[in-house]
Amino acid sequence: MTEIQKIYEKIEDIVGTKFVSDSIPICYSYSMNCDLVLQGIPEIVVRPGNSNEVSEILKAANRYRIRIIPRGNGADLTGGAKPIGDGGIVLDLTRMNKILDVDEKNRIVTVEIGISWSELCEELSNVGIGYYTGSTGPASGFSATIGGGLSNNSVGGGGAAKYGNVTEQCVGLEVVLPTGEIIYTGAKANSFCDKPFTRFGLGADYTGLFLGDIGIHGVKTKASLNLYPLPEYAAYSTYEIKKTPEMSESERAAKLMMEWQHKNLALYDFYYYPRSFVSQLKMRKMAKNLIEAKVRGSVLFYTTVANTQKELDYNVERIERIAKDAKVRKLGDTVEEGNLGKWFYEEDGRWQWANVSWSGHSLAIMATCLKCPTYQLPDFERVYNDWIKSNSEKMNAIGGGSAMFIAFGVYPSHIDIAGGLGLLNKRENRESQYDLWKDLIITQLKVLGGIHYWMGEIIGRALIDSGAVTEEYYNFMITIKKALDPNGILSPGKFYLGEKY
Ligand SMILES: Cc1cc2nc3c(=O)[nH]c(=O)nc-3n(C[C@H](O)[C@H](O)[C@H](O)COP(=O)(O)OP(=O)(O)OC[C@H]3O[C@@H](n4cnc5c(N)ncnc54)[C@H](O)[C@@H]3O)c2cc1C
Repeated sequence: MTEIQKIYEKIEDIVGTKFVSDSIPICYSYSMNCDLVLQGIPEIVVRPGNSNEVSEILKAANRYRIRIIPRGNGADLTGGAKPIGDGGIVLDLTRMNKILDVDEKNRIVTVEIGISWSELCEELSNVGIGYYTGSTGPASGFSATIGGGLSNNSVGGGGAAKYGNVTEQCVGLEVVLPTGEIIYTGAKANSFCDKPFTRFGLGADYTGLFLGDIGIHGVKTKASLNLYPLPEYAAYSTYEIKKTPEMSESERAAKLMMEWQHKNLALYDFYYYPRSFVSQLKMRKMAKNLIEAKVRGSVLFYTTVANTQKELDYNVERIERIAKDAKVRKLGDTVEEGNLGKWFYEEDGRWQWANVSWSGHSLAIMATCLKCPTYQLPDFERVYNDWIKSNSEKMNAIGGGSAMFIAFGVYPSHIDIAGGLGLLNKRENRESQYDLWKDLIITQLKVLGGIHYWMGEIIGRALIDSGAVTEEYYNFMITIKKALDPNGILSPGKFYLGEKY
């Protein structure tokens, strides 16, 4: 009997026959994330139902030295939720999707990690006075799980300008360590503490060790997050920005966004859509309204929330005064008149805007999302456009496609630039597509020094290959990884870790 057959039997004992599979179609279907370029076919897929089962599976993986890759809903676009190279076990955590406790007294919700952001927010809206999590996940929040969001330090699906990344809202985690021990971080590390309420436990910020770790330090099984009452009042406006003889559209947008940020206004979100993205929105019929509103330039919208009409009026007056001084054209108030802010907030546009570029099967998606200071937006645009220009022949040679980016505000003072390439999905082009993708990531890294957050396979490795990670910092990463995962069984290969020791 091979080691993989032995562990299969062991896992069957742990979770039961129904929740483990080694069938080729099942394993194949877990071999990619939403990106189509990266593929690694696992040998086993397992869907545990609780933390103890996760713990037993990890203990078995150590015993048989079989690698394990945790997965939420597989909406990662950088190869995070599949093995690097064929083989290993994919640990699908989506059966663990219950809301365990809503602590209204202390405004904390504790969940099993496999529930999606949209399901959680929907459920919370029906509890007591109606709640939500403030920062409401990534733009893929209709499917992405709390575990995926916390592992990828996600942001982009609502509330970024006011609440920041979803990780900022985390006050404690239950984690199964790679060797199988189960710990709870944050206040609940104190055995006399009844309920989680702060992210720091007894000592350093060990919760932080597992946030944004892309699943290399442990398997998160439960999370406690801050809870906020649903705002009673909200307002939104959308502006068209055109270039002037002195300034490009992105320069004007960056200037205005920085003023908003520096004045510490009560913005819930603000998004900049350059004209290239606006035309994709129109083409894909996601924002037909922009055609009717005769928008030709770039678009900037904001949303703000408040608890009273007076507070809302105060917010709107301050935010809009700055936009007015910047002489940008305000579109009408309704969605039909082009108010994307209203669509974003009232019609769940927060969990749809990225579908324009990152969904469907005709394009292989090559995302390069990063965070950087707001003033770098025009530099980003220049680097990006130059790269596209000098690589357009190569892209056309493999069928062509499209390129896009957008930028949005993240609390307190930077932006997230989401985007990348979408090239015609052809299996025979995967290698060339991989090379182009990595080249774009490394170009952006070197010129902008941006900070990536969902790093999966390709960005994690590009960070090491480009020299972005200093030798001292990398040694520190190795030391921590070795201490937690001595046999290198959890997500090996990300940042090349687990392969190099
Ligand atoms: C249309 C679209 C829009 C997107 N928009 C955004 C966006 O706005 N912002 C953003 O940040 N991302 C975005 N993404 C990328 C991705 O969907 C998110 O990062 C999301 O949080 C991933 O959640 P998931 O449940 O699908 O995780 P998965 O894809 O399953 O996993 C993501 C990573 O987390 C690890 N992981 C998952 N669960 C656990 C766990 N319980 N314990 C330990 N490790 C775990 C995996 O190993 C993997 O490395 C988008 C993707 C698409 C397709």
